[in-house]
Amino acid sequence: MVHYELPKLSYHYGDLEPFIDEKTMQIHHQIHHQSYVDGLNDSLLKIGAASHPKYISSILSDLKSVPEEMRIYVDFFGGGFENHKFFWDVLIPDGGDAPGGKLADSIEVYFDTFENFKKIFSDTATSIQGSGWCWLVFNHTFHKVEIISTPNQTSPWTMQKTPLLALDMWEHAYYLKYQNQKLDYVHEWWNVINWDFVENRFAEVSG
Ligand code: MN
Repeated sequence: MVHYELPKLSYHYGDLEPFIDEKTMQIHHQIHHQSYVDGLNDSLLKIGAASHPKYISSILSDLKSVPEEMRIYVDFFGGGFENHKFFWDVLIPDGGDAPGGKLADSIEVYFDTFENFKKIFSDTATSIQGSGWCWLVFNHTFHKVEIISTPNQTSPWTMQKTPLLALDMWEHAYYLKYQNQKLDYVHEWWNVINWDFVENRFAEVSG
């Protein structure tokens, strides 16, 4: 069985200021993400470790392989673990601007302009009722990029879609700094996106 650990960040908690504040980053990583790590390890132990040696994204892609009574826990804690790990990866101090390369081309094909893409993504994110995530994903079936939202900690992997960009819309991701001003949080978040990472990931998964 894979034993999961809290991943280290490649930047300091305060490095995303003023867009994402240090205290939020610290609590989000050390407390919230840690709780998903622990919940995932506990859930996998209950399932029977030896039969699930695969990495969590593979397990999420095939949730039916998990005993039915444990699926909601693997969906929640496994998604929570992997979603946050990915979320940290798409953030970077002094990020922002816009993507280039093949990803920029694909965004123009499906969303006309980058500005329009940002608008649809932001609208999708702020329309989420309750806790959830907003995503740019790669849909392998139709070989295209898509904007989707998922409830709670559900991962796009459970729909066989590959995450390219993630935005955590749980209150714990923004409430300390932005309170109920979700729109401001989303608006500022565009300043800390690691587009090089997102572009490379798109190039990798789209072949
Ligand atoms: Mn979160």
